Amino acid sequence: MSSGTEANTPPVAQDSAAGRSSTEVREEAKSVEFTYRGIYQKTLAANLCKHVVMAARKRDWLGSTIQRYGDSPERNGVPAKQFAVIAPDEMRLQEHMAKYEPNELDVITVLDDTLCDGVESWAFYGRQPINLRLRRGGTLLVISNRSAEELLKVIPRKPWDWTLAILPGTPSLGGLWVYRDDGTDMRVLGAIARTRPDIFEFSAVESVVNEDEKLGEEHLAALRDGYEEVVIHEVAAGVGKEDDYEPVRLPGYKEMREGIIVEARKLGERNPDYKTSSDRTMRPVVNFDTCIKCRQCWLDCPDECFDITEEGFHPVNYDYCTGCGICAQVCPVEDCIVMVNDLEFIEEGNEDVFPMWKEDKEAYHRWREEKIANGRIEHHDYFNADTWAWSGGKQADRTS
Ligand code: SF4
Ligand code: SF4
Repeated sequence: MSSGTEANTPPVAQDSAAGRSSTEVREEAKSVEFTYRGIYQKTLAANLCKHVVMAARKRDWLGSTIQRYGDSPERNGVPAKQFAVIAPDEMRLQEHMAKYEPNELDVITVLDDTLCDGVESWAFYGRQPINLRLRRGGTLLVISNRSAEELLKVIPRKPWDWTLAILPGTPSLGGLWVYRDDGTDMRVLGAIARTRPDIFEFSAVESVVNEDEKLGEEHLAALRDGYEEVVIHEVAAGVGKEDDYEPVRLPGYKEMREGIIVEARKLGERNPDYKTSSDRTMRPVVNFDTCIKCRQCWLDCPDECFDITEEGFHPVNYDYCTGCGICAQVCPVEDCIVMVNDLEFIEEGNEDVFPMWKEDKEAYHRWREEKIANGRIEHHDYFNADTWAWSGGKQADRTS
C-alpha cells in the first residue's frame, strides 16, 4: 500500500501509458477523480462515482469508490476528492484500490472551476496543480463558462499531450439537501461518455438511467445535453501555466514535535500558518467611496479578514478570506461589497487593493467595475436558484 508521503510527490511512472496499443489501454483499470467543494457538492460527487461504477457494470467490469477530505468534512467549501475505480476483473480492481489514492488518473472532473487554480485537498500536500496526476493522454473535464485560453492561464502545462473538456455551466449545488436536483450529475456523465468512451459508452450510462425508477425523461435529456454540449480541446505538451509546484517536504519522525503547538499571537497579529488556500470560490470587492464605515463587515467576518485603516475604512486581507460572502450580506449599503468569482483575480493574487484606491480612485473604480461585470456572483440567485445550473437557460426553458 502506498503511504501519504509517496502520494505527496508526482508519480514517476505517469507516462507509463506510452507505447501501448489502444486495446491494452482500453482493457486496463481506469481511475476517475471528481474534485469538488466539501458539503456543497458531496452528494453530487457521490452520485457521479456511483453512476461511473454502475455504467462499468454494463460491460461486466467491477468498480469501487473512495472519498477523501483534507480537512473536517463538516467545513463548507473545503476542497475534496472522490474517486471511482473500474477494472475488468477483481484482481486488477484490488490492485488499483490498494492505494492511498489513485496515482494516475484517466479523467479528472472539476465541479467548480475556481479549483483549476490549484487544490489543497489534503492539508499536508500543500496546494497542488489540478492536473498533477493526470496521466499521458488523460482528460481534464471542467464545468465552466470560461474559454480554454482563460482556464489554461491557471492550469499548469504537462510534458505530454492531454485533453481539456469544458462543459458549460456554473458550480452546482444540486443534490445538497435543501436544493432541488439541477441535472448536473447527468450532464457530467453525458460529457464523460462523449470524451472518454473507454470509461463507458453513452448507451451504457443511458441504460443505467433508464432502469432507475427515480429518474425520468428530464434526466435523460440532461444526459444527452451534456454529451452534446461538452467542448473538447486537445492540449499539446508544454501548453498552459508554468508549473511552479514544489511538493511539500514532510518531516521525518525524528523531526516531528511531540504535540501540535499553535504559537500565541499578539493582539492585532494574524497567524501566518492559518492563511487560506484553495477553499475560496468568490471574494468580496469593496467600494470605499460608498462605505459608511459602520464596521458591520469587520464585526461579522468569521475569519477576521477586515483591517482598519487610519481613515476608518475596512479593506479585506485576502490571505485569510475564505469567500463565505457574509460581509456582502451584512453590509447595509447596496453594492458596497460585491462577491466576484475568484478566477477574475489571477493577476492580483491576494494583493491589498486599498492602496490602489488611495492612489487613483477613478482607476480603482474602472478596475472594480470590470471585475464585477465579468465575475459577479449574485448571492441569492446562487444559493436559491430554482433553474438548472448550466448556461444558456436551455434546460430552464425545457422544464418550465
Ligand atoms: S467573504 Fe467576507 S466575511 Fe467571508 S471570510 Fe471573506 S472577508 Fe470575511
Ligand atoms: S459593512 Fe459595508 S458600509 Fe459598513 S464598514 Fe463594511 S464595507 Fe463599509
